[in-house]
Amino acid sequence: MNMNKHLRHYLGRAAAGELVFPRCEECAAVFMPPRAACPACGTDALGWTPVGGAQGTIYSISRHSNEGSVALCEFEVLNTGTRFYGQLVGPGNQQAQIGQPVELTLAECTVSGMDAVDQGQLIPSIKLVEN
Ligand SMILES: [Zn+2]
Repeated sequence: MNMNKHLRHYLGRAAAGELVFPRCEECAAVFMPPRAACPACGTDALGWTPVGGAQGTIYSISRHSNEGSVALCEFEVLNTGTRFYGQLVGPGNQQAQIGQPVELTLAECTVSGMDAVDQGQLIPSIKLVEN
């Protein structure tokens, strides 16, 4: 993983218990992954916005049987076109289906062998929304 300063900032805030995504100061686009310029308008005037609890639906799922209970999924945040990919945590994650409602949360990393984070570090994660 290319650990640019924007990604380091994002993961550092998460490790400190803050769930934030980059947000453009010019056009208000919220996007992932963190990068130097807004993908919508190109400005480098970027800030951060809290996204804890942001909801969306599962777009894709991949399961890693060699990682025990780890499921990874991608979901579209708040129907904005912004897609977030990460570990799926909490009850029911092994039975998760595409289209199910989920939300962003912070959880300890359960995936081993990631370049950017240590196991047990708080990282942005996805959990199923209980109906
Ligand atoms: Zn922009």
